[in-house]
Amino acid sequence: MRVLVVEDERTLANLIKEGLEEENFSVDVAYDGEEGLFLAENEPYDAIILDIMLPKIDGIEILRRIRDRGIKTPVLMLTAKSSVEDKVLGLDSGADDYLTKPFSFEELLARLRAVIRRAFGETENIVKVADLELNLNTHEVKRGGVKIELSSKEYALLEYLVLNRNKLLTRSQISEHIYDYEYDFDSNVIDVMIARLRKKIDKGFNKKLIHTVRGAGYMIKG
Ligand code: CA
Repeated sequence: MRVLVVEDERTLANLIKEGLEEENFSVDVAYDGEEGLFLAENEPYDAIILDIMLPKIDGIEILRRIRDRGIKTPVLMLTAKSSVEDKVLGLDSGADDYLTKPFSFEELLARLRAVIRRAFGETENIVKVADLELNLNTHEVKRGGVKIELSSKEYALLEYLVLNRNKLLTRSQISEHIYDYEYDFDSNVIDVMIARLRKKIDKGFNKKLIHTVRGAGYMIKG
């Protein structure tokens, strides 16, 4: 999952980035509203963490503009004020949830996971494809009840496939959602990661879950 953090307090922004990266997210940071709006409009994020008080363009304005353009990316607003008006304004402008500063990282993570889960139409923490089980909270992966160890990038890839199960994903789509802005797309890297994932997920099972769609990309289906 790829997340944009728009926050002008650098220490806080960088703490959120580091924390989320430890949780297998790919994270881009914008330190002002202009850069935040540009990234939000041009990159395919799975969620946006958006501060309200920002230099150049404030968070509410960013939210209005991206919603006006039909961008439905879930948005978690950060607000320094705990005033009811601020929260109502944020939610009315299209925010999916909000957090009042100061907040704990655990709460941010829980709310972020919840908005992403809802955006993918999931109601449970455990998502299944045939006998493959993925726990979105603990990142535990099992097939046929047996635990499978994955690297953080392998997990990110599998999670993206599973949340989009039965849907064809191109290599560039996959890359855009599991790597950040700094990363240069290389379709080979995705093929190599898919091969590694297949060894762990499908090897030894009659029913293969990861499918190659020739000339197009990959799909997971049960
Ligand atoms: Ca701020």
